[in-house]
Amino acid sequence: MTKKSGKLCEACGGQNTKIHLTTYPVKMGEKQINVGRVSARECMDCYAIKPTKAGQEKIERCMMTFMSLLDDDNFGSV
Ligand SMILES: [Zn+2]
Repeated sequence: MTKKSGKLCEACGGQNTKIHLTTYPVKMGEKQINVGRVSARECMDCYAIKPTKAGQEKIERCMMTFMSLLDDDNFGSV
C-alpha cells in the first residue's frame, strides 16, 4: 500500500481490472438512483465496481440534478 497504484481492485487486490462505462446505482436515503454511463473500474476477478475520478464527478453531478428536481417538486418519472 506504499506505492501509488490506482489500478488494483480494492476488494480483492487483483490487478485484472478494466475501465468501462456502466450504470452505477447510488443510494440516497431510501431511494436508489441508477446513474447511466459512469466511468468505472471493474474487477474481472470479483466483479467489484468502483467509479473512476471522472465517474465519481459524473455521479455527483447527477445527484445534484436529482436534488434540484426534488426541490422543484418536479419529481415524477425518473
Ligand atoms: Zn477484485
